[in-house]
Amino acid sequence: MPDIRTHPHPPPHPPTAPAAPTTPPEQAPRPAAAEPAAPTARLVYDLADGRRDMADLLGGKGANLAEMTRLGLPVPPGFTITTEACRAYLRTGAEPPALRDEVSAHLAALERRMGRRLGHGQDPLLVSVRSGAKFSMPGMMDTVLNVGLTDDSVPALAARTGDERFAWDSYRRLIQMFGRTVLGVDGELFEERLETARRAVGVDTDTELNARHLRGVVRQFKDLVREHTGRGFPQDPREQLDLAIRAVFDSWNGERARVYRRQERIPHDLGTAVSVVAMVFGNRGPDSGTGVAFTRDPATGHQGVYGDYLANAQGEDVVAGVRNTVPLAELERLDRRSYDELLRVMEILENHYRDLCDIEFTIERGKLWLLQTRVGKRTAAAAFRIATQLLDQGLIDADEALRRVRGGQLSQLMFPRFDTRSRPATLATGIPASPGAAVGAAVFDSATATARAAEGEAVILVRRETNPDDLNGMLAARGILTSRGGKTSHAAVVARGMGTTCVCGAEELDVDPVRRRLTTSDGTVVNEGDVLSIDGGTGDVYPGELPVVPSAVMEYFENGCVLPPDADDLVSAVHRLMTLADRARRLGVRANADTADDAARARRFGAEGIGLTRTEHMFLGERRGLVERLVLADTDAERAAALDALLPLQRSDFRALLAAMDGLPVTVRLLDPPLHEFLPDLTELSVRVATAEARNDQADRADRADQTGHDACLLAAVRRLHEQNPMLGLRGVRLGLVVPGLFTMQVRAIAEATADRLAEGGDPHAEIMIPLVGTARELEIVRADAERTVAEVEAERDRALSLPLGTMIELPRAALTADELAASADFFSFGTNDLTQTVWGFSRDDVEASFFAAYLEKGIFGVSPFETIDADGVGSLVRVATERGRATRPDLKLGVCGEHGGDPESVHFFHEAGLDYVSCSPFRVPVARLEAGRAALAAP
Ligand code: PEP
Ligand code: MG
Repeated sequence: MPDIRTHPHPPPHPPTAPAAPTTPPEQAPRPAAAEPAAPTARLVYDLADGRRDMADLLGGKGANLAEMTRLGLPVPPGFTITTEACRAYLRTGAEPPALRDEVSAHLAALERRMGRRLGHGQDPLLVSVRSGAKFSMPGMMDTVLNVGLTDDSVPALAARTGDERFAWDSYRRLIQMFGRTVLGVDGELFEERLETARRAVGVDTDTELNARHLRGVVRQFKDLVREHTGRGFPQDPREQLDLAIRAVFDSWNGERARVYRRQERIPHDLGTAVSVVAMVFGNRGPDSGTGVAFTRDPATGHQGVYGDYLANAQGEDVVAGVRNTVPLAELERLDRRSYDELLRVMEILENHYRDLCDIEFTIERGKLWLLQTRVGKRTAAAAFRIATQLLDQGLIDADEALRRVRGGQLSQLMFPRFDTRSRPATLATGIPASPGAAVGAAVFDSATATARAAEGEAVILVRRETNPDDLNGMLAARGILTSRGGKTSHAAVVARGMGTTCVCGAEELDVDPVRRRLTTSDGTVVNEGDVLSIDGGTGDVYPGELPVVPSAVMEYFENGCVLPPDADDLVSAVHRLMTLADRARRLGVRANADTADDAARARRFGAEGIGLTRTEHMFLGERRGLVERLVLADTDAERAAALDALLPLQRSDFRALLAAMDGLPVTVRLLDPPLHEFLPDLTELSVRVATAEARNDQADRADRADQTGHDACLLAAVRRLHEQNPMLGLRGVRLGLVVPGLFTMQVRAIAEATADRLAEGGDPHAEIMIPLVGTARELEIVRADAERTVAEVEAERDRALSLPLGTMIELPRAALTADELAASADFFSFGTNDLTQTVWGFSRDDVEASFFAAYLEKGIFGVSPFETIDADGVGSLVRVATERGRATRPDLKLGVCGEHGGDPESVHFFHEAGLDYVSCSPFRVPVARLEAGRAALAAP
């Protein structure tokens, strides 16, 4: 997950005058920036003026192009329009007034430097116009290449390059891209015409169309534009440029960009930068091409030459996966010089960025050009391996290694993998693009994937290749399978980013989206709805549902975090980074556990105690009858009998927990939910009673009448306890104050279990926690009663017991009066589930399903506040309570036991707020340990 906070922009650079060299780019000194219209609001930066740390303003692409330019690497010249210009456009619906002049000045400087004019003259300059936000959003926004080509400049380009085919191919690409992204013509229509042209000529690929054919295609494309827009394709190069810039701005708010941002938690208000760069051409024949290179394998993290190359191709052809690429290593054979140069550049970049770099390059007639680099997305396994590899290489230190891995990645590594010990037959083997073991019904389009997943079905989205329009289906699917495209295809890049299992380029599969089926090389047919299992770690595709086994990382945790002697490099990397995190962290990590088994697992996973035992989970099943007796009791004696029956059961529960967590704290929360939760449902019971009464009228049997009498009493109790809004009703401490003896019984059970454990030679550390306290008086009463009970047990057992008593902070009033509560509390534990519910007035059981989707869509919040702590609202109360509680009692221990305790981003918040520990479900304990360690690192 990217860091979603926005940072203030760096101060604008001082204005400098444009230089005017006219030499080709590779020899030219870099020009200085043009005179900006207003020094405080510079909207355009020359590539030579930016830096890598200016991604806020120049977007990742612009900042990294600038960085590579600074490093003296072969980057075509150009300039970047800032995200601020985009934000202004999005705010007002119009480009900021100064933008046009600034673009003119920079364009003029570029033209002087190149010695060519945009779309004019005998050697027309063409530019690419590319989007680039602060955070990489691969393929989610628009890009237009070959801007500047017109009816007049195509012949000039053909003459200059001596390659008529190339000139017409570039023009048809421009009209196609521009038509679709800028003018809004349906992209399929262009594809259809191209397909018709190919069929008419009798060829399979575009590269087989000659200049004459392409000229015909251009004519048809121009007709298409006129038909759909009512005007001809723009023939003014500057107008093309301005429209393309605007289209890129607009694409920030395109449907797929919005969906992607929501998924990746990227704020909607950042805007995109636009880089305008002199075109270099990978489609100038067999000695040209374009590709993507990774300095390490983004799937495994292993070092080597990874990437894809496509000869005689331009721009997005590789990522779109429309033609099959060759592995990058092939380039060594095709063009040794460029290959060596690329390896040299890759080494420079990896050493400079001290990380895996993902590079887009183009070779134009044997000359290598870099079009983009970024710190590459990687799988979870690769992230852990690369962090330790770079640490060993001395490129980064231990703190930086920890910064390079995230809790979300760790939890992915804990997912199960397929059990292939029985050597099941595969349907095909593709490229392992994003790991995981996914099982689901095959579906052949995005809409079906979304619809069936919404019904709760696990689906595998099967496509020839994916494109950005498939995003919703990709999000809904358990796994993605494509028959085309390499590790850098759209499917692979996006799946890796989302952490979804993906196998791509399974070429043996013939995917037929129209008949909704795939056929394997031996003729086996898989229809829509048939179950597939895909292994994103090996690339294997299996028919049916394959059994799964725990991952090696999970086994490591289950084994008590002991590194086995035969550990593979991934488990070793995890162990090493977890050790570093434990060393770095200040926050303790406990678990929410209600059973001894959960407690034991949590302990194996590294928990340092239990932060929350929900005792209500001990009142279910067979014990429900005892609770019913308690509720139905009419007399003190009946009530005491019910409580006496519960006492030994609770005591043995607590003993087991204390034994499992011997030596570590165990926070036991007294009963929280309303009593009716333990009784039958009101409607069901009413029906039962009414039916039974009707039957009794007919046959008056004594035993049946007895049962009916019991049910009638129960029904009366259920009616009495029925609440319109039980979450805000008789629950928590309120229950303890109005149901006589209930809390006393629980406290006694805790005290007796502690005494029992001490007698057994154990080292119990129980803590008593009171839920839903709103005022100090409630706590005082419960505390006095608890102290009395503990004193009784001490006297009976002749042992001193140390049982700290604390309160949950889950109501705004509790947080605001924390100074008063602290006088009666040994510790606070923030119940951020209820605190979120009460601060927002959101019913925690209802809102997520009812309207959160709309709130997320409208950008009211980027993520549910029940998932990640709302730092400004709920978080403010956490800070207030911390400060006020500690003012009364400086040694007050502070923890959190709401769901947020295991959420990576929230863990950072709790660290900064100064809490002592977080408590979360056992499976999230490793994530919390890792994130607590990361939170404690000083800023780099
Ligand atoms: C909470 O409210 O955050 C909490 C931990 O209690 P529960 O979820 O049981 O209400
Ligand atoms: Mg609660």
